[in-house]
Amino acid sequence: MSTFTIIGGGIAGASIAYHLAKSNHDVTVYDRSDAGQATAASAGIICPWISQRRNKKWYSLVTEGARYYPDFIRELEAKTKQSTDFRRNGAICLFKDKHIQQLAYERISAKQEGSPEMGEVRKLTKEEVKKMHPHLTDYYPAVYVEGGGQISGRSLLNALKEAIIYYGGKWINQTIAPDSCEGTVIYTAGAWSGEYYSNPDVRHQRAELLHLKIDGKAPMKQTPVVMGLGPMYIVETDLNQYAIGTTHEDTEDFSITPSIENQDYLHGEAQRYFPDTEIHDQFMSVGLRPFTRDSLPYIGYTKDGVFVVNGLGSTGLTCGPVIGREVAAYLSGKETVLNLNDYAY
Ligand SMILES: Cc1cc2nc3c(=O)[nH]c(=O)nc-3n(C[C@H](O)[C@H](O)[C@H](O)COP(=O)(O)OP(=O)(O)OC[C@H]3O[C@@H](n4cnc5c(N)ncnc54)[C@H](O)[C@@H]3O)c2cc1C
Repeated sequence: MSTFTIIGGGIAGASIAYHLAKSNHDVTVYDRSDAGQATAASAGIICPWISQRRNKKWYSLVTEGARYYPDFIRELEAKTKQSTDFRRNGAICLFKDKHIQQLAYERISAKQEGSPEMGEVRKLTKEEVKKMHPHLTDYYPAVYVEGGGQISGRSLLNALKEAIIYYGGKWINQTIAPDSCEGTVIYTAGAWSGEYYSNPDVRHQRAELLHLKIDGKAPMKQTPVVMGLGPMYIVETDLNQYAIGTTHEDTEDFSITPSIENQDYLHGEAQRYFPDTEIHDQFMSVGLRPFTRDSLPYIGYTKDGVFVVNGLGSTGLTCGPVIGREVAAYLSGKETVLNLNDYAY
């Protein structure tokens, strides 16, 4: 049994702590729950196969992440009796025209062989779009990816925290300086990483989501995730309630005050996707997405006794749990599925 102190209890820190505690290590998590914590603000979409990004190391991480999710959630929910709001209702991906739809269909289908967990991939008719998601516009050609899913970052953290304590770990809602920690320090501070270490260099992006309610004659529950044009997406948060986003703003500021311009912009985007219904803005949520070099997560020792995981970027909810599993195996001297040397420099 080894001793680990984890500084930062977002998805990175909590997942590592959960897997280490499950392996009988002595684990303590210190978390400050800063306003702007990315995990709580996240949209929680788990659908990595549709991305056009070509980085192989990133793709291995996120697809292994998506593959691991169902087992990870089953075990976590069974142990804690808490829901993480994880569900796989598929993803509807929208495209500007039929030509781009066809190219996307071919590109996504080509990944099926290596990633069978993505399930069926097919082009949808207008009728099928309306059947799956009655409020959504049928104006854009669509492709359906059966394995697409979503999770609530906040519910997931609550369940992980409970499981960590169940397995004998401690969760302390305050901060601690790395040099006063016991055992190996695992530094998972997200956007706040620079407070103690400049290596790796962590930058952040402010991202806003608009939460809204729509007037629905036919209330729909469990609609698929919608991947709209460009970087826009929509997730269901409750009955006839959705979050649409996101904005991307590189900044050095840690302010999380929502901007009126971004709210107007996202409201306009919501009208484009839900053209036949009244939209009522509820609130804006803001998170700070941490990035490192090459927009690839950093996973590794940065000095003796300090192991850093950061830069999970825009797919941190997707890869967080598998990073937890892999880092716990690595630090326990066990074999890993992924080559973690790919993520350290
Ligand atoms: C709006 C938005 C939408 C997103 N949507 C998706 C999505 O759909 N799918 C997806 O896969 N990913 C998504 N992401 C990305 C994902 O949320 C992040 O990559 C991930 O949550 C980062 O996790 P983290 O643990 O590294 O950082 P965080 O979640 O930010 O956690 C860091 C924690 O460390 C704590 N901390 C920092 N310093 C200290 C200290 N000195 N002492 C104690 N505690 C400290 C902070 O308070 C915080 O709680 C989204 C992100 C945002 C912002």
